[in-house]
Amino acid sequence: MKINKIAILGYPIKHTLSPKMHNYWLKELGINGKYDAIKTPIRNFKKTIIKLCKDGYKGSNLTLPLKEKALKYLNKKDEIVDIVGAVNVLIFSKQGFIEGKNTDIYGFKKSLVKLVKKKRGIAIIIGSGGAARAVLCALIEMKYNKVILCNRTKKKAEKIKKDFQKKFSRNLKTKIVYDELKNTKKHLKSIDLLINTTPMGMKGFPILNIDVKSLKISAAVFDLVYNPLETKLIKEAKKRGIKSSNGLDMLMYQAQRSFYYWLNKTPKITNKLKKILEKEIK
Ligand code: NAP
Repeated sequence: MKINKIAILGYPIKHTLSPKMHNYWLKELGINGKYDAIKTPIRNFKKTIIKLCKDGYKGSNLTLPLKEKALKYLNKKDEIVDIVGAVNVLIFSKQGFIEGKNTDIYGFKKSLVKLVKKKRGIAIIIGSGGAARAVLCALIEMKYNKVILCNRTKKKAEKIKKDFQKKFSRNLKTKIVYDELKNTKKHLKSIDLLINTTPMGMKGFPILNIDVKSLKISAAVFDLVYNPLETKLIKEAKKRGIKSSNGLDMLMYQAQRSFYYWLNKTPKITNKLKKILEKEIK
Protein backbone atom coordinates (compact mmCIF):
# COMPACT_ATOMS: atom_id res chain seq x y z
CA MET A 1 0.00 0.00 0.00
CA LYS A 2 1.22 3.50 -0.86
CA ILE A 3 2.65 5.49 2.05
CA ASN A 4 1.94 9.22 2.13
CA LYS A 5 5.32 10.69 3.00
CA ILE A 6 5.67 14.25 4.28
CA ALA A 7 8.46 16.06 6.17
CA ILE A 8 9.47 19.28 7.82
CA LEU A 9 12.78 20.77 6.70
CA GLY A 10 14.86 23.30 8.59
CA TYR A 11 17.85 23.80 10.77
CA PRO A 12 17.83 23.44 13.74
CA ILE A 13 14.90 21.02 13.69
CA LYS A 14 15.33 19.02 16.90
CA HIS A 15 12.55 20.71 18.87
CA THR A 16 9.86 20.88 16.19
CA LEU A 17 6.34 19.84 17.23
CA SER A 18 5.18 19.26 13.66
CA PRO A 19 5.86 15.48 13.47
CA LYS A 20 3.90 15.00 16.69
CA MET A 21 0.88 16.86 15.27
CA HIS A 22 0.87 15.41 11.77
CA ASN A 23 1.56 11.82 12.80
CA TYR A 24 -1.28 12.14 15.35
CA TRP A 25 -3.66 13.30 12.60
CA LEU A 26 -2.50 10.62 10.15
CA LYS A 27 -3.30 7.99 12.74
CA GLU A 28 -6.63 9.60 13.75
CA LEU A 29 -7.79 9.71 10.15
CA GLY A 30 -6.53 6.21 9.36
CA ILE A 31 -4.21 7.47 6.63
CA ASN A 32 -1.20 5.35 5.81
CA GLY A 33 1.50 7.99 6.13
CA LYS A 34 4.60 9.25 7.84
CA TYR A 35 5.78 12.76 8.73
CA ASP A 36 9.52 13.16 9.43
CA ALA A 37 11.78 15.96 10.52
CA ILE A 38 14.77 16.32 8.19
CA LYS A 39 17.70 18.42 9.31
CA THR A 40 18.27 20.76 6.35
CA PRO A 41 20.78 23.59 6.49
CA ILE A 42 20.55 26.05 3.57
CA ARG A 43 23.44 24.41 1.71
CA ASN A 44 21.52 21.11 1.46
CA PHE A 45 18.14 22.61 0.67
CA LYS A 46 17.99 22.18 -3.13
CA LYS A 47 19.46 18.69 -3.00
CA THR A 48 16.94 17.67 -0.31
CA ILE A 49 13.82 18.84 -2.12
CA ILE A 50 14.95 17.19 -5.37
CA LYS A 51 15.44 13.93 -3.47
CA LEU A 52 12.06 14.19 -1.72
CA CYS A 53 10.31 14.71 -5.07
CA LYS A 54 12.10 11.66 -6.51
CA ASP A 55 11.23 9.59 -3.45
CA GLY A 56 7.54 10.36 -3.92
CA TYR A 57 7.00 12.71 -0.95
CA LYS A 58 3.67 14.56 -1.01
CA GLY A 59 5.27 17.73 0.25
CA SER A 60 6.93 19.40 3.18
CA ASN A 61 6.75 22.13 5.74
CA LEU A 62 9.58 24.63 5.94
CA THR A 63 10.91 26.36 8.97
CA LEU A 64 13.89 28.59 9.72
CA PRO A 65 16.06 29.38 7.76
CA LEU A 66 14.35 28.11 4.58
CA LYS A 67 11.04 29.98 4.35
CA GLU A 68 12.40 32.81 2.21
CA LYS A 69 15.07 30.78 0.41
CA ALA A 70 12.43 28.46 -1.06
CA LEU A 71 10.90 31.12 -3.31
CA LYS A 72 13.43 30.59 -6.08
CA TYR A 73 12.67 26.85 -6.36
CA LEU A 74 8.93 27.21 -6.87
CA ASN A 75 7.19 26.40 -10.15
CA LYS A 76 3.93 27.80 -8.83
CA LYS A 77 3.00 30.07 -5.96
CA ASP A 78 0.01 31.92 -4.54
CA GLU A 79 -0.19 35.65 -4.94
CA ILE A 80 -0.04 35.76 -1.15
CA VAL A 81 3.35 33.99 -1.14
CA ASP A 82 4.62 36.74 -3.40
CA ILE A 83 3.33 39.43 -1.07
CA VAL A 84 4.65 37.84 2.09
CA GLY A 85 7.91 36.70 0.52
CA ALA A 86 7.93 33.46 2.53
CA VAL A 87 6.71 29.88 2.04
CA ASN A 88 6.06 27.36 4.80
CA VAL A 89 4.43 24.63 2.70
CA LEU A 90 5.73 22.85 -0.39
CA ILE A 91 3.54 20.55 -2.45
CA PHE A 92 5.40 18.14 -4.75
CA SER A 93 4.25 16.44 -7.90
CA LYS A 94 5.77 13.23 -9.27
CA GLN A 95 7.16 15.22 -12.19
CA GLY A 96 9.18 17.36 -9.79
CA PHE A 97 6.78 20.32 -9.99
CA ILE A 98 6.90 22.35 -6.75
CA GLU A 99 4.08 24.55 -5.49
CA GLY A 100 4.51 26.92 -2.54
CA LYS A 101 1.92 28.09 -0.03
CA ASN A 102 1.96 30.16 3.13
CA THR A 103 -0.31 28.86 5.88
CA ASP A 104 1.14 31.05 8.65
CA ILE A 105 -1.26 33.82 7.58
CA TYR A 106 -4.23 31.46 7.88
CA GLY A 107 -2.90 30.14 11.20
CA PHE A 108 -2.51 33.60 12.65
CA LYS A 109 -5.90 34.80 11.42
CA LYS A 110 -7.77 31.79 12.81
CA SER A 111 -6.19 32.15 16.23
CA LEU A 112 -6.58 35.94 16.33
CA VAL A 113 -10.29 35.66 15.60
CA LYS A 114 -10.58 33.42 18.67
CA LEU A 115 -8.91 36.12 20.75
CA VAL A 116 -10.38 39.34 19.36
CA LYS A 117 -14.03 39.17 18.48
CA LYS A 118 -14.89 42.35 16.61
CA LYS A 119 -12.94 45.55 16.82
CA ARG A 120 -10.20 46.24 14.31
CA GLY A 121 -8.16 49.24 15.41
CA ILE A 122 -4.47 49.89 15.89
CA ALA A 123 -1.92 47.10 16.20
CA ILE A 124 1.78 46.99 17.00
CA ILE A 125 3.94 44.28 15.52
CA ILE A 126 7.22 43.74 17.35
CA GLY A 127 9.75 42.39 14.84
CA SER A 128 10.06 42.52 11.07
CA GLY A 129 11.07 39.05 9.94
CA GLY A 130 9.12 36.38 8.03
CA ALA A 131 6.53 35.90 10.76
CA ALA A 132 5.91 39.67 10.95
CA ARG A 133 5.21 39.67 7.22
CA ALA A 134 2.60 36.91 7.61
CA VAL A 135 1.01 38.74 10.56
CA LEU A 136 0.93 42.07 8.71
CA CYS A 137 -0.71 40.39 5.73
CA ALA A 138 -3.41 38.96 8.00
CA LEU A 139 -4.02 42.32 9.72
CA ILE A 140 -4.38 44.05 6.35
CA GLU A 141 -6.85 41.39 5.19
CA MET A 142 -8.71 41.85 8.48
CA LYS A 143 -8.88 45.58 7.82
CA TYR A 144 -6.94 46.95 10.77
CA ASN A 145 -6.79 50.76 10.54
CA LYS A 146 -3.15 51.14 11.42
CA VAL A 147 -0.16 48.87 12.08
CA ILE A 148 2.99 50.12 13.77
CA LEU A 149 6.09 48.05 13.00
CA CYS A 150 8.53 48.27 15.91
CA ASN A 151 11.82 46.64 15.07
CA ARG A 152 15.47 46.67 16.08
CA THR A 153 16.62 47.13 12.48
CA LYS A 154 14.92 50.06 10.76
CA LYS A 155 15.92 48.93 7.27
CA LYS A 156 14.03 45.64 7.59
CA ALA A 157 10.81 47.26 8.80
CA GLU A 158 10.98 49.96 6.11
CA LYS A 159 11.46 47.23 3.49
CA ILE A 160 8.29 45.44 4.65
CA LYS A 161 6.37 48.70 4.57
CA LYS A 162 7.59 49.46 1.03
CA ASP A 163 6.94 45.91 -0.23
CA PHE A 164 3.40 45.82 1.15
CA GLN A 165 2.53 49.32 -0.09
CA LYS A 166 3.72 48.30 -3.55
CA LYS A 167 2.03 44.89 -3.64
CA PHE A 168 -1.34 45.96 -2.20
CA SER A 169 -1.15 49.30 -3.97
CA ARG A 170 -4.52 51.13 -4.00
CA ASN A 171 -6.22 48.28 -2.15
CA LEU A 172 -4.21 49.00 0.96
CA LYS A 173 -6.52 50.56 3.54
CA THR A 174 -4.24 49.92 6.51
CA LYS A 175 -1.77 52.64 7.42
CA ILE A 176 1.68 51.13 8.02
CA VAL A 177 4.23 53.08 10.04
CA TYR A 178 7.64 52.27 11.49
CA ASP A 179 8.99 53.16 14.91
CA GLU A 180 12.07 52.13 16.84
CA LEU A 181 11.79 49.18 19.18
CA LYS A 182 12.72 51.38 22.12
CA ASN A 183 9.74 53.65 21.36
CA THR A 184 7.17 50.84 21.72
CA LYS A 185 6.13 52.13 25.14
CA LYS A 186 4.81 55.45 23.89
CA HIS A 187 2.23 53.71 21.66
CA LEU A 188 0.90 51.28 24.26
CA LYS A 189 -1.85 53.57 25.59
CA SER A 190 -3.54 53.87 22.23
CA ILE A 191 -3.25 50.43 20.67
CA ASP A 192 -5.79 47.59 20.55
CA LEU A 193 -3.43 44.71 19.80
CA LEU A 194 0.20 43.94 20.58
CA ILE A 195 1.91 41.09 18.72
CA ASN A 196 5.36 39.73 19.40
CA THR A 197 6.82 38.17 16.27
CA THR A 198 10.42 38.05 17.53
CA PRO A 199 11.96 35.04 19.27
CA MET A 200 12.39 37.18 22.40
CA GLY A 201 10.83 35.42 25.36
CA MET A 202 11.48 32.02 23.80
CA LYS A 203 13.48 29.45 25.73
CA GLY A 204 17.14 30.41 25.44
CA PHE A 205 16.41 33.99 24.28
CA PRO A 206 16.30 37.24 26.27
CA ILE A 207 12.86 38.25 27.56
CA LEU A 208 10.81 40.87 25.77
CA ASN A 209 10.63 43.79 28.12
CA ILE A 210 7.31 45.50 27.53
CA ASP A 211 5.39 46.97 30.40
CA VAL A 212 1.80 45.98 29.70
CA LYS A 213 0.57 48.30 32.49
CA SER A 214 0.17 51.05 29.91
CA LEU A 215 -2.09 48.94 27.69
CA LYS A 216 -5.83 49.53 27.63
CA ILE A 217 -7.69 46.83 29.52
CA SER A 218 -9.67 46.14 26.32
CA ALA A 219 -6.48 45.51 24.35
CA ALA A 220 -5.18 42.05 23.43
CA VAL A 221 -1.71 40.51 23.47
CA PHE A 222 -0.55 37.84 21.02
CA ASP A 223 2.84 36.22 21.43
CA LEU A 224 3.90 33.96 18.57
CA VAL A 225 6.24 32.19 20.96
CA TYR A 226 4.84 28.94 22.40
CA ASN A 227 7.87 27.62 24.25
CA PRO A 228 7.45 28.44 27.09
CA LEU A 229 3.66 28.37 26.91
CA GLU A 230 3.58 31.48 29.12
CA THR A 231 6.19 34.09 28.30
CA LYS A 232 6.70 37.01 30.65
CA LEU A 233 4.62 39.11 28.25
CA ILE A 234 1.67 36.69 28.46
CA LYS A 235 2.02 36.31 32.23
CA GLU A 236 1.92 40.07 32.77
CA ALA A 237 -1.05 40.49 30.44
CA LYS A 238 -2.97 37.77 32.28
CA LYS A 239 -2.15 39.38 35.61
CA ARG A 240 -3.78 42.59 34.39
CA GLY A 241 -6.82 40.80 32.99
CA ILE A 242 -5.82 41.54 29.41
CA LYS A 243 -6.77 38.79 26.97
CA SER A 244 -3.83 36.98 25.46
CA SER A 245 -2.74 34.10 23.28
CA ASN A 246 0.52 32.26 22.84
CA GLY A 247 1.60 30.86 19.45
CA LEU A 248 0.34 27.31 19.91
CA ASP A 249 -3.06 27.83 18.27
CA MET A 250 -1.37 29.51 15.32
CA LEU A 251 1.00 26.56 15.02
CA MET A 252 -1.89 24.08 15.01
CA TYR A 253 -3.95 26.03 12.48
CA GLN A 254 -1.06 26.46 10.06
CA ALA A 255 -0.45 22.72 10.35
CA GLN A 256 -4.12 21.91 9.78
CA ARG A 257 -4.10 23.92 6.55
CA SER A 258 -0.82 22.33 5.44
CA PHE A 259 -2.30 18.87 5.98
CA TYR A 260 -5.27 19.82 3.82
CA TYR A 261 -3.00 20.91 0.95
CA TRP A 262 -1.15 17.58 0.91
CA LEU A 263 -3.96 15.14 1.66
CA ASN A 264 -7.19 16.98 0.87
CA LYS A 265 -8.53 16.34 4.38
CA THR A 266 -8.98 18.80 7.24
CA PRO A 267 -7.88 17.18 10.51
CA LYS A 268 -9.48 18.24 13.80
CA ILE A 269 -7.83 20.56 16.31
CA THR A 270 -8.94 19.14 19.63
CA ASN A 271 -8.18 19.72 23.29
CA LYS A 272 -6.61 16.27 23.36
CA LEU A 273 -4.08 17.26 20.68
CA LYS A 274 -3.42 20.59 22.39
CA LYS A 275 -2.74 18.78 25.67
CA ILE A 276 -0.30 16.39 23.94
CA LEU A 277 1.63 19.33 22.51
CA GLU A 278 1.58 21.27 25.78
CA LYS A 279 2.96 18.22 27.55
CA GLU A 280 5.72 17.98 24.96
CA ILE A 281 6.66 21.62 25.60
CA LYS A 282 6.65 21.33 29.38
P1 NAP B 1 13.13 36.00 11.51
O1 NAP B 1 12.73 36.13 10.09
O2 NAP B 1 14.52 35.60 11.84
O3 NAP B 1 12.80 37.41 12.23
C1 NAP B 1 13.04 37.62 13.59
C2 NAP B 1 12.75 39.05 13.99
O4 NAP B 1 12.97 39.16 15.39
C3 NAP B 1 13.60 40.10 13.31
O5 NAP B 1 12.82 41.23 13.02
C4 NAP B 1 14.65 40.43 14.37
O6 NAP B 1 15.07 41.78 14.38
C5 NAP B 1 13.89 40.22 15.66
N1 NAP B 1 14.79 39.83 16.75
C6 NAP B 1 15.42 38.65 16.91
N2 NAP B 1 16.15 38.66 18.05
C7 NAP B 1 16.00 39.88 18.59
C8 NAP B 1 16.50 40.49 19.76
N3 NAP B 1 17.31 39.85 20.61
N4 NAP B 1 16.13 41.77 20.02
C9 NAP B 1 15.29 42.43 19.18
N5 NAP B 1 14.79 41.90 18.06
C10 NAP B 1 15.13 40.62 17.77
O7 NAP B 1 12.20 34.93 12.25
P2 NAP B 1 10.66 34.61 11.98
O8 NAP B 1 10.52 33.53 10.98
O9 NAP B 1 9.98 35.91 11.71
O10 NAP B 1 10.21 33.98 13.37
C11 NAP B 1 10.17 34.78 14.53
C12 NAP B 1 9.53 34.05 15.70
O11 NAP B 1 8.19 33.70 15.42
C13 NAP B 1 10.24 32.73 16.08
O12 NAP B 1 10.32 32.68 17.47
C14 NAP B 1 9.31 31.67 15.53
O13 NAP B 1 9.39 30.48 16.29
C15 NAP B 1 7.96 32.34 15.73
N6 NAP B 1 6.94 31.81 14.81
C16 NAP B 1 5.87 31.18 15.38
C17 NAP B 1 4.88 30.68 14.57
C18 NAP B 1 3.70 29.98 15.18
O14 NAP B 1 2.99 29.24 14.48
N7 NAP B 1 3.43 30.19 16.45
C19 NAP B 1 4.97 30.78 13.16
C20 NAP B 1 6.07 31.43 12.63
C21 NAP B 1 7.06 31.95 13.47
P3 NAP B 1 16.08 42.39 13.27
O15 NAP B 1 15.24 42.68 12.08
O16 NAP B 1 16.62 43.58 13.92
O17 NAP B 1 17.11 41.32 13.02
